[in-house]
Amino acid sequence: MSTPAIQSKLPEVGTTIFTVMSGLANQYNAINLGQGFPDYQMNEDLMNKVTEVMQKGWNQYVPMQGYMPLRESISEKVEYLYQTKISPDTQITITPGGTYAIYTALTTILQPGDEVIIFEPAYDSYIPNVEINGAVPVLIDLKFPAYKIDWNEVKQKISPKTKVIMLNSPHNPTGAVLSGEDMGQLREILNDKNIFIVSDEVYEHLIFDNIPHQSILRYPDLLERSFVCFSFGKTYNCTGWKLGYCVSSPAAMIEFRKVHQFNCFCCHTPSQVALAEFLKNRDAYLSLGVIMQQKRDHFIELMRSTKFDMLHSSGSYFICAKYNRISDELDKDFAIRITKEFGVATIPVSVFYKAGTDNKVIRFCFSKKNETLETAAERLTKI
Ligand code: PMP
Ligand code: GLN
Repeated sequence: MSTPAIQSKLPEVGTTIFTVMSGLANQYNAINLGQGFPDYQMNEDLMNKVTEVMQKGWNQYVPMQGYMPLRESISEKVEYLYQTKISPDTQITITPGGTYAIYTALTTILQPGDEVIIFEPAYDSYIPNVEINGAVPVLIDLKFPAYKIDWNEVKQKISPKTKVIMLNSPHNPTGAVLSGEDMGQLREILNDKNIFIVSDEVYEHLIFDNIPHQSILRYPDLLERSFVCFSFGKTYNCTGWKLGYCVSSPAAMIEFRKVHQFNCFCCHTPSQVALAEFLKNRDAYLSLGVIMQQKRDHFIELMRSTKFDMLHSSGSYFICAKYNRISDELDKDFAIRITKEFGVATIPVSVFYKAGTDNKVIRFCFSKKNETLETAAERLTKI
């Protein structure tokens, strides 16, 4: 009997670097400062709340748009944070994580041949999400080492085929954040154009030094053309919950939900019921940036006794570092070697460039217990 062969939709794609480096960290018993997740426990009250609602019987499907009281809590939170009113009924959909929200948004918008502007380094799901829809990524480098957007280059790269600009602030892997000035440039450029924005804001609350988060949700005119994607995993230290949401205009959300309802239909009920109440606790998300800023600063201090040159991080739970005073190896080789030889796993930043641009930079995740960061830095001092 003959077996059918799959013609790959993503022929150039291998296994994501996060799985590769976490696998290597486990294999070599290394400290994992690679994949982005906290190594400490999530909020106890939220955990207990989920258990409680499961025991009370909240274990069946909710509507495909998401549990309404949770959408109401999100709408209240958005109004409090960004002074914009969004309808829980027509503008919010609960999704199984931020990655899924981004994929669904791109799948909703894109037709074959459309162009999508992506800034590199870029989170590794964006380009495959574009390509699987038959669309074409148009790549623009963020200016190294501050990783800023050159808006003149954006103007030059916009063509009649441009359908989407992807944004990500706070940015993974660099920790760069967009400023009010960036948003001004964006508004001016898009003013007379039929271009959508997909804005990845999963690190909304992980922003430091009192910098305000420039959410698309602050700008109702931009929201009209945007899908804005969030993740509860990042906000509540529970990345394994894979729960998030997407916000858009009512018209765009109708189309988003057409795609979503035949993919996962609806998300985990007990977490939604628990979060509906927990979201009202503002301290739980407002304190996050302060806690993570302390971790960033502690890690930077510890890294002073190594030969790494730390780059600036204004948000996310990542900080990048140059290692050119240590080695001229390719960043992938270097990251693999220090995992094996020195017991610290990191992420080589070249994987976030389609062409593999190698600036001799690796990414560290600092959302870890202080003792984890201290042991890791001690090991890195030996390099
Ligand atoms: N976007 C970025 C930039 C991320 O770092 C992550 C982290 N995984 C996500 C999206 C996805 O979040 P989630 O785990 O909720 O899918
Ligand atoms: N967002 C996390 C990171 O950048 C990992 C998520 C994943 O493994 N897909 O490290």
